[in-house]
Amino acid sequence: MLSELIKESRALERAISGEDLTYNDGMELMDYDNLFMLGAAADMIRQKLVGNTVTFAASYYMNYTNICAASCQMCAFYRKGGEDDAYTLKPDDISKRAGMAKEMGATEVHIVGGFHPDLPLEYYENMMKIIKKDHPELKIKAFTAAEIFYLSKLTKNSVKEILSRLKESGLDSMPGGGAELFHPEIRKLIVRGKCSGQEWLDTIEQAHNLGIQSNATMLYGHIEKPSHIVDHLIKIRELQKKTHGFITFIPLKFSLDNTELEKEGLVTNECSAIYDLRIIALSRLLLGGYLNNISVYWVAYGKKLAQIALSHGGNDLVGTAFSEEIYRAAGKSTTSSVLELANLPKEINREAAQRDTFFNILRKF
Ligand code: SF4
Repeated sequence: MLSELIKESRALERAISGEDLTYNDGMELMDYDNLFMLGAAADMIRQKLVGNTVTFAASYYMNYTNICAASCQMCAFYRKGGEDDAYTLKPDDISKRAGMAKEMGATEVHIVGGFHPDLPLEYYENMMKIIKKDHPELKIKAFTAAEIFYLSKLTKNSVKEILSRLKESGLDSMPGGGAELFHPEIRKLIVRGKCSGQEWLDTIEQAHNLGIQSNATMLYGHIEKPSHIVDHLIKIRELQKKTHGFITFIPLKFSLDNTELEKEGLVTNECSAIYDLRIIALSRLLLGGYLNNISVYWVAYGKKLAQIALSHGGNDLVGTAFSEEIYRAAGKSTTSSVLELANLPKEINREAAQRDTFFNILRKF
């Protein structure tokens, strides 16, 4: 029955037999109306490639500054510096936050920030050193390729020099943000003052070549066309064939509130759950065989939709996303967050495991 239905789509047949999907295949699947079949095929491939375990990391999130020289239309985070809520963390704050991360049971700190126009390279190097000095076992996953590219322009150092110095100071991996959508046609409508798609790809390629592995992301659900999604996925796959440096792929659902896209009336609703599921399934089908971890960012989906996404090709839940606010609210007992996350896969008859930054299994539930 399933195989009969799969014959409805040549692209699905090709995906199931393990062939690389082409751009045209991707376009066919973006338009394919049988979401059930798309999800079932992605789920079947997920099971074949990575089995039934759903992983997640215990992560602590730290945004070192919200001051940004860019002003992206899709961003609600940035400040220009004069606002009451503009901030930049000082070395003491960074040290305290690293201590909180450790107390909460995090195994990694996830660090990103705005493009600060005045901070020197030493600020970033010190950040790494401060964290590693007190907590050498904490993995530092920091800086998007877009931040690195900006820092290279700002400090007039090459991307390679910046990455090498940060690695030397303690940088373990990179989080994969700033990719948004690579195609220039859409990129110019959602980011302003950020590197091009090609510059992002070149920067992350240099990181991989230096032994700094990274995640990859894609921002969807705003004003993109199907072709932009397919183009993005294929560019990620082609780079992965070259470097093998991507750890996981995380599709990020666009969050509408307080963005220029919302204020200008260009996006009035967040995308549907149906579209979310199509994106997860398509990510699995297009990247399968090369980038085999597809992460479901449960913070954006909510826990119930995250469970369904795990049945449409996903095999990872990203992480616990602890932060200072959560620490304040939860005191020192955050075990429940880890257990709650572990329950999500178990409720859908999948195994759950806590992993580290590089997908090594730390404990099973
Ligand atoms: S670079 Fe763009 S997305 Fe990143 S903080 Fe600045 S305005 Fe926001």
